Amino acid sequence: MSARFPAASRDERISRALASLRGVAVGDALGSQFFVPDNLPHLRRRELPPGTWRWTDDTEMAASVVAVLAACGRADQDALAASFARHHDFDRGYGPAVNRMLRLIRQEGGDWRELAPALFDGQGSWGNGGAMRVAPLGAWFADDPEYAADEAARSAEVTHRHPEAIAGTRAIAAATAFVAAAAQGATAAGPVPGAAPAWDAATGAAHDGRQQDAGEQQAGGERQGGGERQSGGQPRAGGERQAGYQQQGGSRQDAGDRQDVGGQQKSDSKTSAPPTSLSPETLLVRVHDLVPRSAVQAGLRRALDLLDYADVHTVAAVLGCGRRTSTQDTVPFTLWAAARHLGDFREAIWTTAAAGGDMDTTCAIVGGIVAAGGPGSAPPREWADRTEAFPAWLRESLGWPR
Ligand SMILES: [Mg+2]
Repeated sequence: MSARFPAASRDERISRALASLRGVAVGDALGSQFFVPDNLPHLRRRELPPGTWRWTDDTEMAASVVAVLAACGRADQDALAASFARHHDFDRGYGPAVNRMLRLIRQEGGDWRELAPALFDGQGSWGNGGAMRVAPLGAWFADDPEYAADEAARSAEVTHRHPEAIAGTRAIAAATAFVAAAAQGATAAGPVPGAAPAWDAATGAAHDGRQQDAGEQQAGGERQGGGERQSGGQPRAGGERQAGYQQQGGSRQDAGDRQDVGGQQKSDSKTSAPPTSLSPETLLVRVHDLVPRSAVQAGLRRALDLLDYADVHTVAAVLGCGRRTSTQDTVPFTLWAAARHLGDFREAIWTTAAAGGDMDTTCAIVGGIVAAGGPGSAPPREWADRTEAFPAWLRESLGWPR
């Protein structure tokens, strides 16, 4: 455990992870609404689409991550594979490779250790599926971002073995851990009126993400928590990042998706006030230092250089916005969006969705990172109310009453 914080209890970890998962679910569900053509005017006007928003594979898999952490205290790979396969719903928008792999595990006894490395002619998948589900894991291990990154790598390997996928999954977990850690000192301030509860399962029980009703929790003290492990722990403060990435990134932006492209103007550095002393640049530098050399890491350096750009379309044209559904064209952009909007879930998601691309996943990732920043960073209550409840099996896996 890090020297900075006392070891967190299992209940504290669950509370933090569920707050992040709530952000994943709301971002995922709202972002996916904008693939419906009739909802695009809502996006342009920043108005909420009608009806109940259904989440997709991002939330379904992230719920498995939380369930496995609650049961095992770590990213147990066999448990993750089993949970991914058991709860796999074809109608949730999985990519074809993962669809097939999870079906083989569930129906034919397939082994993830053979299936995952074999994908894409033996290269392993570099899709953004590892990164999209990992933010709650970062919140779980907030007391040690480096360990969070290591556990995130193990969680990715179950389905996404390409080094870019693993690097990007490390980055998202580390970012969430830094955000959740920075919020630790702010949680004594109490819940923010209007902020969404972390839990609103089908039974209607609600928790504010910080204060759990003890009567609805399993004691769980005898289970393994993450807190007893040792680590080298302290994140390395960066500061020596390399600058100078000026060439265009590989992603293309379809002209039809762009609106009000303001070109190259710099912003007035107006970013949302973070809830803590964690600045956007500090966050990205620290994450960069926990990521191995990779296209993801190079993208993070570009994201750092673009932190003072306000125009999301310009930034997405350079960093990508998930249009290729690869990790490397998803993670740098989502970290740029999250870093610029710490403490402001609304602005974070509207900005992310405005770029287009893989909107359910980009919004899920950004939502999961930002919502880890404490009650003031939670999704607005109305947004959470419009989002489909967490799956019932998650509640059961946490040992909470029906
Ligand atoms: Mg999805």
